[in-house]
Amino acid sequence: MKRVGVIGGGQLAWMMGGAARKLGVELVVQTPSVNDPAVAIALDTVFASVDDAIATAQLAEKCDVITFENEFVNLDALSLLAHQGVCFRPKLEALAPLLDKYHQRCYLRDLGLSVPQFFAVEEDRSNSGLGFPVVLKVRRHGYDGQGTFIVKDPETLKQKIKSINTKSRICQKNLLLEEFVPFERELAVIAARSVSGEVVTYPVVETQQEEQVCRRVIAPAHITPELAAEVEDIAHTLLNSLEVVGVFGIELFLTADGKVLVNEIAPRTHNSGHFSLDACETSQFEQQLRAVCGLSLGSPAMHCAGAVMVNLLGISTESKSDYFSKLSLLQQIPQAHVYWYGKIEPRIGRKLGHVTVLLDNQQADSVSAIVNTIESIWYFS
Ligand code: ADP
Repeated sequence: MKRVGVIGGGQLAWMMGGAARKLGVELVVQTPSVNDPAVAIALDTVFASVDDAIATAQLAEKCDVITFENEFVNLDALSLLAHQGVCFRPKLEALAPLLDKYHQRCYLRDLGLSVPQFFAVEEDRSNSGLGFPVVLKVRRHGYDGQGTFIVKDPETLKQKIKSINTKSRICQKNLLLEEFVPFERELAVIAARSVSGEVVTYPVVETQQEEQVCRRVIAPAHITPELAAEVEDIAHTLLNSLEVVGVFGIELFLTADGKVLVNEIAPRTHNSGHFSLDACETSQFEQQLRAVCGLSLGSPAMHCAGAVMVNLLGISTESKSDYFSKLSLLQQIPQAHVYWYGKIEPRIGRKLGHVTVLLDNQQADSVSAIVNTIESIWYFS
Protein backbone atom coordinates (compact mmCIF):
# COMPACT_ATOMS: atom_id res chain seq x y z
CA MET A 1 0.00 0.00 0.00
CA LYS A 2 1.65 3.18 -1.12
CA ARG A 3 -1.11 5.72 -1.39
CA VAL A 4 -3.44 6.38 1.51
CA GLY A 5 -6.64 8.41 1.23
CA VAL A 6 -7.57 10.32 4.36
CA ILE A 7 -11.15 11.51 4.93
CA GLY A 8 -10.72 14.79 6.81
CA GLY A 9 -7.94 17.36 6.53
CA GLY A 10 -7.63 18.82 10.01
CA GLN A 11 -4.67 18.69 12.36
CA LEU A 12 -4.89 14.92 12.82
CA ALA A 13 -4.31 14.40 9.10
CA TRP A 14 -1.64 17.12 9.09
CA MET A 15 0.26 15.27 11.81
CA MET A 16 0.35 12.14 9.61
CA GLY A 17 2.67 14.05 7.25
CA GLY A 18 5.97 13.25 8.97
CA ALA A 19 5.11 9.56 9.37
CA ALA A 20 4.03 9.33 5.71
CA ARG A 21 7.42 10.70 4.59
CA LYS A 22 9.22 8.28 6.90
CA LEU A 23 7.29 5.27 5.56
CA GLY A 24 7.39 6.40 1.91
CA VAL A 25 3.59 6.64 1.81
CA GLU A 26 1.72 9.32 -0.16
CA LEU A 27 -1.36 10.96 1.35
CA VAL A 28 -4.41 12.15 -0.58
CA VAL A 29 -6.87 14.10 1.54
CA GLN A 30 -10.61 14.75 1.27
CA THR A 31 -11.40 18.02 3.03
CA PRO A 32 -13.67 21.00 2.33
CA SER A 33 -11.29 23.94 2.37
CA VAL A 34 -8.00 24.83 0.73
CA ASN A 35 -7.05 26.36 4.09
CA ASP A 36 -7.37 23.12 6.06
CA PRO A 37 -4.10 22.09 7.75
CA ALA A 38 -3.49 18.81 5.88
CA VAL A 39 -3.72 20.36 2.40
CA ALA A 40 -0.11 21.48 2.94
CA ILE A 41 1.24 17.95 3.45
CA ALA A 42 -0.98 16.08 0.95
CA LEU A 43 0.20 14.93 -2.45
CA ASP A 44 -3.28 15.67 -3.76
CA THR A 45 -6.60 16.86 -2.33
CA VAL A 46 -10.24 16.24 -3.14
CA PHE A 47 -12.01 19.39 -1.97
CA ALA A 48 -15.34 18.30 -0.53
CA SER A 49 -17.03 17.88 2.81
CA VAL A 50 -16.20 14.64 4.62
CA ASP A 51 -19.75 13.29 4.21
CA ASP A 52 -19.67 13.67 0.42
CA ALA A 53 -19.45 10.08 -0.80
CA ILE A 54 -19.20 11.11 -4.47
CA ALA A 55 -15.99 12.91 -3.54
CA THR A 56 -14.86 9.81 -1.65
CA ALA A 57 -15.34 7.80 -4.87
CA GLN A 58 -12.88 10.22 -6.53
CA LEU A 59 -10.55 9.84 -3.56
CA ALA A 60 -10.73 6.06 -3.94
CA GLU A 61 -9.56 6.30 -7.56
CA LYS A 62 -6.38 7.99 -6.38
CA CYS A 63 -5.60 5.63 -3.46
CA ASP A 64 -4.94 2.03 -2.43
CA VAL A 65 -6.76 2.33 0.90
CA ILE A 66 -8.91 4.92 2.67
CA THR A 67 -8.73 5.82 6.35
CA PHE A 68 -10.38 8.42 8.58
CA GLU A 69 -9.29 11.46 10.53
CA ASN A 70 -12.91 12.55 10.89
CA GLU A 71 -15.81 10.16 11.47
CA PHE A 72 -18.67 12.46 10.50
CA VAL A 73 -19.19 10.50 7.30
CA ASN A 74 -22.25 9.10 5.56
CA LEU A 75 -21.84 5.38 6.17
CA ASP A 76 -24.77 4.28 3.99
CA ALA A 77 -23.34 6.10 0.99
CA LEU A 78 -19.82 4.82 1.69
CA SER A 79 -21.02 1.24 1.96
CA LEU A 80 -21.95 1.34 -1.74
CA LEU A 81 -18.28 2.09 -2.44
CA ALA A 82 -17.16 -0.70 -0.12
CA HIS A 83 -19.39 -3.11 -2.09
CA GLN A 84 -17.65 -1.96 -5.25
CA GLY A 85 -14.33 -3.00 -3.71
CA VAL A 86 -13.03 0.22 -2.12
CA CYS A 87 -10.85 -0.70 0.86
CA PHE A 88 -11.67 1.23 4.04
CA ARG A 89 -9.49 0.74 7.11
CA PRO A 90 -10.98 0.57 9.65
CA LYS A 91 -13.82 -1.15 7.77
CA LEU A 92 -17.18 0.62 7.81
CA GLU A 93 -18.73 -2.06 10.06
CA ALA A 94 -16.23 -1.05 12.75
CA LEU A 95 -17.46 2.54 12.63
CA ALA A 96 -21.17 1.76 12.40
CA PRO A 97 -21.90 1.24 16.13
CA LEU A 98 -19.85 4.27 17.15
CA LEU A 99 -21.05 7.28 15.18
CA ASP A 100 -24.15 7.87 17.29
CA LYS A 101 -23.37 8.34 21.00
CA TYR A 102 -26.49 6.37 22.02
CA HIS A 103 -25.64 3.44 19.75
CA GLN A 104 -22.05 3.61 20.98
CA ARG A 105 -23.15 3.38 24.63
CA CYS A 106 -25.41 0.39 23.76
CA TYR A 107 -22.57 -1.35 21.91
CA LEU A 108 -20.11 -0.89 24.79
CA ARG A 109 -22.69 -2.05 27.37
CA ASP A 110 -23.55 -5.13 25.30
CA LEU A 111 -19.85 -5.92 25.09
CA GLY A 112 -19.81 -6.06 28.91
CA LEU A 113 -17.88 -2.81 29.37
CA SER A 114 -18.95 -0.38 32.12
CA VAL A 115 -20.49 2.87 30.91
CA PRO A 116 -22.40 5.67 32.65
CA GLN A 117 -26.18 5.03 32.93
CA PHE A 118 -27.84 6.44 29.85
CA PHE A 119 -31.17 6.90 28.07
CA ALA A 120 -32.30 8.08 24.69
CA VAL A 121 -34.42 11.19 25.20
CA GLU A 122 -38.00 10.25 24.31
CA GLU A 123 -40.82 12.59 23.40
CA ASP A 124 -42.55 12.07 26.72
CA ARG A 125 -39.60 11.46 29.00
CA SER A 126 -37.05 14.16 29.63
CA ASN A 127 -36.98 13.10 33.28
CA SER A 128 -35.17 9.76 33.33
CA GLY A 129 -34.85 9.27 37.06
CA LEU A 130 -31.11 9.88 36.84
CA GLY A 131 -31.22 12.79 39.29
CA PHE A 132 -29.27 16.01 38.84
CA PRO A 133 -26.87 17.17 37.59
CA VAL A 134 -27.39 15.18 34.43
CA VAL A 135 -25.53 15.24 31.12
CA LEU A 136 -27.40 15.96 27.89
CA LYS A 137 -25.61 15.09 24.66
CA VAL A 138 -26.38 15.53 21.00
CA ARG A 139 -26.06 11.98 19.64
CA ARG A 140 -24.20 12.79 16.45
CA HIS A 141 -21.42 15.10 15.31
CA GLY A 142 -20.36 16.29 18.77
CA TYR A 143 -16.73 17.17 19.37
CA ASP A 144 -14.68 19.18 21.87
CA GLY A 145 -17.71 19.39 24.14
CA GLN A 146 -19.90 20.95 21.44
CA GLY A 147 -23.21 19.24 21.96
CA THR A 148 -22.44 18.15 25.56
CA PHE A 149 -24.26 20.01 28.35
CA ILE A 150 -24.09 19.48 32.09
CA VAL A 151 -27.56 20.40 33.35
CA LYS A 152 -28.29 21.20 37.00
CA ASP A 153 -32.09 21.02 37.36
CA PRO A 154 -35.29 19.80 35.62
CA GLU A 155 -36.38 23.25 34.46
CA THR A 156 -33.02 23.98 32.78
CA LEU A 157 -33.15 20.52 31.18
CA LYS A 158 -36.56 21.21 29.65
CA GLN A 159 -35.40 24.58 28.36
CA LYS A 160 -32.14 23.18 27.01
CA ILE A 161 -33.94 20.43 25.08
CA LYS A 162 -36.37 23.01 23.71
CA SER A 163 -33.62 25.40 22.67
CA ILE A 164 -31.59 22.64 20.99
CA ASN A 165 -34.75 21.59 19.12
CA THR A 166 -35.44 25.06 17.81
CA LYS A 167 -31.89 26.24 17.18
CA SER A 168 -30.45 23.29 15.38
CA ARG A 169 -33.38 21.31 13.98
CA ILE A 170 -32.17 18.44 16.17
CA CYS A 171 -35.24 16.72 17.58
CA GLN A 172 -35.55 15.11 20.99
CA LYS A 173 -34.95 11.65 19.69
CA ASN A 174 -31.48 12.72 18.60
CA LEU A 175 -30.46 13.45 22.17
CA LEU A 176 -28.91 11.28 24.85
CA LEU A 177 -29.28 11.76 28.58
CA GLU A 178 -26.77 10.23 30.95
CA GLU A 179 -25.76 10.25 34.57
CA PHE A 180 -23.23 12.85 35.61
CA VAL A 181 -20.16 10.89 36.71
CA PRO A 182 -18.34 12.66 39.57
CA PHE A 183 -15.05 11.27 38.31
CA GLU A 184 -11.83 11.54 40.26
CA ARG A 185 -9.83 11.73 37.04
CA GLU A 186 -10.26 11.24 33.32
CA LEU A 187 -8.03 8.71 31.58
CA ALA A 188 -7.45 7.82 27.95
CA VAL A 189 -5.64 5.21 25.94
CA ILE A 190 -4.66 4.96 22.30
CA ALA A 191 -4.81 1.47 20.84
CA ALA A 192 -3.90 0.13 17.42
CA ARG A 193 -4.78 -3.11 15.65
CA SER A 194 -3.07 -4.47 12.55
CA VAL A 195 -4.39 -6.43 9.57
CA SER A 196 -3.12 -9.61 11.24
CA GLY A 197 -5.02 -8.85 14.46
CA GLU A 198 -2.06 -7.73 16.57
CA VAL A 199 -3.16 -5.13 19.17
CA VAL A 200 -0.85 -2.65 20.90
CA THR A 201 -1.78 -0.04 23.48
CA TYR A 202 0.03 3.18 24.35
CA PRO A 203 0.70 4.10 27.97
CA VAL A 204 -2.55 5.12 29.70
CA VAL A 205 -2.67 8.90 30.12
CA GLU A 206 -4.54 11.35 32.32
CA THR A 207 -6.52 13.95 30.42
CA GLN A 208 -7.73 17.22 31.92
CA GLN A 209 -10.78 18.89 30.42
CA GLU A 210 -12.13 22.38 31.09
CA GLU A 211 -15.63 23.17 29.91
CA GLN A 212 -15.60 19.81 28.14
CA VAL A 213 -12.49 20.68 26.10
CA CYS A 214 -9.20 18.86 26.54
CA ARG A 215 -6.60 21.21 27.98
CA ARG A 216 -3.77 18.91 29.07
CA VAL A 217 -2.55 15.33 28.86
CA ILE A 218 -0.13 13.75 31.32
CA ALA A 219 1.71 10.66 30.17
CA PRO A 220 1.81 8.20 31.73
CA ALA A 221 -1.12 8.54 34.15
CA HIS A 222 -0.18 7.95 37.77
CA ILE A 223 -2.23 4.80 38.25
CA THR A 224 -1.53 1.30 39.54
CA PRO A 225 -0.31 -1.39 37.12
CA GLU A 226 -3.59 -3.25 37.83
CA LEU A 227 -5.65 -0.29 36.70
CA ALA A 228 -3.47 0.18 33.62
CA ALA A 229 -4.00 -3.52 32.81
CA GLU A 230 -7.77 -3.08 33.19
CA VAL A 231 -7.74 -0.18 30.72
CA GLU A 232 -5.57 -2.17 28.29
CA ASP A 233 -8.07 -5.06 28.53
CA ILE A 234 -10.90 -2.69 27.61
CA ALA A 235 -8.92 -1.57 24.56
CA HIS A 236 -8.20 -5.16 23.47
CA THR A 237 -11.84 -6.21 23.92
CA LEU A 238 -13.10 -3.27 21.90
CA LEU A 239 -10.63 -3.38 19.02
CA ASN A 240 -10.88 -7.14 18.68
CA SER A 241 -14.66 -7.17 18.81
CA LEU A 242 -14.87 -4.54 16.06
CA GLU A 243 -11.99 -6.15 14.13
CA VAL A 244 -10.47 -2.70 13.83
CA VAL A 245 -7.58 -2.06 11.47
CA GLY A 246 -6.20 1.31 12.50
CA VAL A 247 -5.96 3.44 15.62
CA PHE A 248 -8.67 4.24 18.17
CA GLY A 249 -8.70 6.69 21.09
CA ILE A 250 -10.63 5.54 24.17
CA GLU A 251 -11.69 8.05 26.85
CA LEU A 252 -12.54 6.85 30.35
CA PHE A 253 -13.73 8.06 33.74
CA LEU A 254 -11.98 6.87 36.89
CA THR A 255 -14.28 7.15 39.91
CA ALA A 256 -13.21 7.77 43.50
CA ASP A 257 -13.82 4.09 44.36
CA GLY A 258 -11.49 2.96 41.57
CA LYS A 259 -14.10 2.00 38.93
CA VAL A 260 -13.38 2.62 35.28
CA LEU A 261 -16.25 3.65 32.97
CA VAL A 262 -15.83 4.12 29.23
CA ASN A 263 -16.88 7.62 28.20
CA GLU A 264 -16.21 7.79 24.51
CA ILE A 265 -14.53 6.04 21.59
CA ALA A 266 -12.86 8.01 18.80
CA PRO A 267 -12.41 5.69 15.79
CA ARG A 268 -9.19 7.45 14.76
CA THR A 269 -6.13 9.12 16.23
CA HIS A 270 -6.94 11.36 19.17
CA ASN A 271 -5.79 14.47 21.03
CA SER A 272 -4.86 12.31 24.01
CA GLY A 273 -2.20 10.63 21.83
CA HIS A 274 -0.38 13.71 20.54
CA PHE A 275 2.38 13.20 23.12
CA SER A 276 3.34 10.06 21.16
CA LEU A 277 4.82 12.24 18.37
CA ASP A 278 7.74 13.17 20.61
CA ALA A 279 7.62 10.76 23.54
CA CYS A 280 7.08 7.32 21.96
CA GLU A 281 9.03 4.98 19.72
CA THR A 282 6.17 5.07 17.20
CA SER A 283 3.70 7.95 17.08
CA GLN A 284 -0.04 7.29 16.88
CA PHE A 285 0.06 8.79 13.36
CA GLU A 286 2.79 6.43 12.14
CA GLN A 287 0.90 3.59 13.81
CA GLN A 288 -2.28 4.44 11.90
CA LEU A 289 -0.39 4.41 8.60
CA ARG A 290 1.44 1.19 9.50
CA ALA A 291 -1.88 -0.50 10.36
CA VAL A 292 -3.83 0.64 7.31
CA CYS A 293 -0.91 -0.13 4.95
CA GLY A 294 -0.76 -3.70 6.25
CA LEU A 295 2.62 -3.29 7.96
CA SER A 296 3.48 -4.72 11.35
CA LEU A 297 2.89 -2.33 14.24
CA GLY A 298 5.70 -0.33 15.85
CA SER A 299 6.48 -0.16 19.56
CA PRO A 300 4.20 2.24 21.45
CA ALA A 301 6.69 2.48 24.35
CA MET A 302 7.78 5.86 25.69
CA HIS A 303 11.46 6.72 25.34
CA CYS A 304 11.39 9.21 28.21
CA ALA A 305 10.18 9.08 31.82
CA GLY A 306 7.10 11.14 31.09
CA ALA A 307 5.55 13.87 28.98
CA VAL A 308 3.03 16.62 29.35
CA MET A 309 1.00 17.95 26.42
CA VAL A 310 -0.84 21.25 26.59
CA ASN A 311 -3.33 22.35 23.93
CA LEU A 312 -3.01 25.88 22.58
CA LEU A 313 -6.58 27.15 22.27
CA GLY A 314 -7.64 30.27 20.39
CA ILE A 315 -7.81 33.40 22.52
CA SER A 316 -10.30 35.96 21.24
CA THR A 317 -8.43 39.13 22.07
CA GLU A 318 -5.12 38.15 20.54
CA SER A 319 -4.05 38.99 17.05
CA LYS A 320 -2.19 36.46 14.92
CA SER A 321 1.17 38.16 15.46
CA ASP A 322 0.76 37.86 19.23
CA TYR A 323 0.40 34.13 18.74
CA PHE A 324 3.78 34.01 17.03
CA SER A 325 5.60 35.85 19.81
CA LYS A 326 4.02 33.44 22.32
CA LEU A 327 5.06 30.47 20.17
CA SER A 328 8.67 31.61 20.14
CA LEU A 329 8.63 31.86 23.97
CA LEU A 330 7.19 28.33 24.17
CA GLN A 331 9.96 27.06 21.91
CA GLN A 332 12.52 28.20 24.45
CA ILE A 333 11.19 25.83 27.15
CA PRO A 334 13.72 22.99 27.55
CA GLN A 335 12.59 19.71 25.90
CA ALA A 336 9.54 21.43 24.40
CA HIS A 337 8.11 20.45 21.02
CA VAL A 338 5.73 23.05 19.65
CA TYR A 339 3.12 22.30 16.97
CA TRP A 340 1.13 25.03 15.21
CA TYR A 341 -1.59 23.75 12.90
CA GLY A 342 -1.67 26.82 10.67
CA LYS A 343 -5.44 27.36 10.90
CA ILE A 344 -6.36 30.67 9.37
CA GLU A 345 -9.41 31.24 11.58
CA PRO A 346 -8.01 31.38 15.12
CA ARG A 347 -11.47 31.31 16.77
CA ILE A 348 -11.79 31.49 20.54
CA GLY A 349 -11.40 28.05 22.11
CA ARG A 350 -10.36 26.42 18.83
CA LYS A 351 -7.45 23.97 18.99
CA LEU A 352 -4.71 25.88 17.14
CA GLY A 353 -1.67 23.93 18.23
CA HIS A 354 -0.10 22.06 21.11
CA VAL A 355 3.14 21.80 23.07
CA THR A 356 4.63 18.60 24.40
CA VAL A 357 7.38 18.78 27.01
CA LEU A 358 9.39 15.63 27.71
CA LEU A 359 10.15 14.89 31.37
CA ASP A 360 13.12 13.28 33.10
CA ASN A 361 10.92 12.20 36.00
CA GLN A 362 7.21 11.91 36.71
CA GLN A 363 6.99 14.16 39.74
CA ALA A 364 3.65 15.93 40.02
CA ASP A 365 5.29 19.25 40.96
CA SER A 366 7.41 19.30 37.81
CA VAL A 367 4.30 18.56 35.72
CA SER A 368 2.34 21.41 37.27
CA ALA A 369 5.32 23.81 36.97
CA ILE A 370 5.55 23.07 33.24
CA VAL A 371 1.80 23.43 32.75
CA ASN A 372 1.90 26.77 34.58
CA THR A 373 4.80 28.01 32.47
CA ILE A 374 3.08 27.09 29.20
CA GLU A 375 -0.34 28.40 30.16
CA SER A 376 1.01 31.67 31.56
CA ILE A 377 2.89 32.30 28.32
CA TRP A 378 -0.11 31.35 26.22
CA TYR A 379 -3.02 32.89 28.08
CA PHE A 380 -1.48 35.64 30.20
CA SER A 381 1.70 37.00 28.61
P1 ADP B 1 -17.13 15.23 22.98
O1 ADP B 1 -17.57 14.15 22.05
O2 ADP B 1 -17.63 16.57 22.58
O3 ADP B 1 -15.64 15.20 23.28
P2 ADP B 1 -17.60 13.94 25.52
O4 ADP B 1 -18.76 13.04 25.69
O5 ADP B 1 -16.28 13.28 25.39
O6 ADP B 1 -17.88 14.96 24.35
O7 ADP B 1 -17.55 14.94 26.75
C1 ADP B 1 -16.57 15.94 26.88
C2 ADP B 1 -16.22 16.09 28.36
O8 ADP B 1 -17.41 16.40 29.11
C3 ADP B 1 -15.66 14.86 29.02
O9 ADP B 1 -14.27 14.72 28.78
C4 ADP B 1 -15.98 15.13 30.47
O10 ADP B 1 -15.05 16.06 31.03
C5 ADP B 1 -17.36 15.78 30.38
N1 ADP B 1 -18.40 14.74 30.46
C6 ADP B 1 -18.97 14.08 29.42
N2 ADP B 1 -19.88 13.17 29.85
C7 ADP B 1 -19.88 13.25 31.20
C8 ADP B 1 -20.58 12.55 32.24
N3 ADP B 1 -21.49 11.62 31.95
N4 ADP B 1 -20.28 12.87 33.52
C9 ADP B 1 -19.39 13.84 33.82
N5 ADP B 1 -18.70 14.53 32.89
C10 ADP B 1 -18.93 14.25 31.59
